Amino acid sequence: MALCDQSLPNVRAISPYLPGKPITQLAREMGIPVERIVKLASNENPLGMSPKARMAVDQAVGSLERYPDDFDLKSALANRFSLGTDRLVLGNGSNDVLDLVARVYLAPGRSTLFSQHAFAVYPLASLSAGAELIAVPAKEYGHDLDAMREAIRPDTRLIWIANPNNPTGTFLPYPQLEAFMCAVPEDVIVVLDEAYNEYIPPGERVDTTAWLQMFSNLVITRTFSKIYGLAGLRIGYALASAEIADLMNRVRQPFNCNNLALAAATAALDDHEFVARSYALNRSGMEQIVNGLKRHGFPHIPSHGNFVTFKAGDAATLNLKLLKQGVIVRPIGGYGMPEWLRVTIGTEAENLRFLEALEHAQRKVL
Ligand SMILES: *Cc1c(COP(=O)(O)O)cnc(C)c1O
Repeated sequence: MALCDQSLPNVRAISPYLPGKPITQLAREMGIPVERIVKLASNENPLGMSPKARMAVDQAVGSLERYPDDFDLKSALANRFSLGTDRLVLGNGSNDVLDLVARVYLAPGRSTLFSQHAFAVYPLASLSAGAELIAVPAKEYGHDLDAMREAIRPDTRLIWIANPNNPTGTFLPYPQLEAFMCAVPEDVIVVLDEAYNEYIPPGERVDTTAWLQMFSNLVITRTFSKIYGLAGLRIGYALASAEIADLMNRVRQPFNCNNLALAAATAALDDHEFVARSYALNRSGMEQIVNGLKRHGFPHIPSHGNFVTFKAGDAATLNLKLLKQGVIVRPIGGYGMPEWLRVTIGTEAENLRFLEALEHAQRKVL
């Protein structure tokens, strides 16, 4: 169609993002009651949201006629990371800040690097901006930093790194990452996406925000969608040099984060009890699911997130068998892994439902 031909070729090249199947959609499609459906498809927090955040939302509902004021959340984040508020960019989910950094640095004639099997939003944001994509083959399903460094071209302006990565759960040791930062030319932006940072055991975690003092080309992104349980409110942020943050804020829509999200995130940031409970549940649930996968003979990739990816073989058939039993997991064929499925760690009961459905699917043709 002529009007389609008039559109930008880089936009036509985008593969649409495929979200996890919503619970109500499965209910409609298969006539399964909503309360019998277990969704372990989108790395959401099975504990819901922090009770403190819920109270903050209730209160914020009273002033929705006002435009958002981001002062409190910015102050709380600046305080948490001991950085000026001029180094912060808030986003409507961290996907929004990924898009902002792409808009600041990418355009036709510029290239951008990311790993095979890395998060789907990197090619999406990069293609929207018109940049050329360079996908570097993965090493054992994770980022191959040496190969990525060698793949940098003179026209490369931005490198995307997810640590841990989604959907593989792979994790780059901090010394390797720091060495990579030292090796990357200073005029190439490195986006370090740490959506799952809070799931790293505290003993293993390094404060990457301290690296911002050393590397002026580093942009760290984090989110309230995962351990903080606020995926539906859409709120995340970037930490960067004041210069980069300023540029990202120029292309940002003035009120990209809404009142409810700002209030909830500010309260959630301080709910250490909820974060600790979510972390502990993920640890025990990961063990439960990994043991179950082993018992049923499914190989998995060791994961540092709140999900685990396992080799299903005929993933489409297994997925359908799970769906028929009301269990939603995530096919990841779009990530170049057509034989694998990704399952989010749920509550103990949800994990059990998944494992039982898996066993049932193996035994019987549904
Ligand atoms: C979930 C996720 C995000 C966060 O997305 P939001 O827009 O903040 O909900 C970012 N990066 C990765 C790798 C993710 O898995």
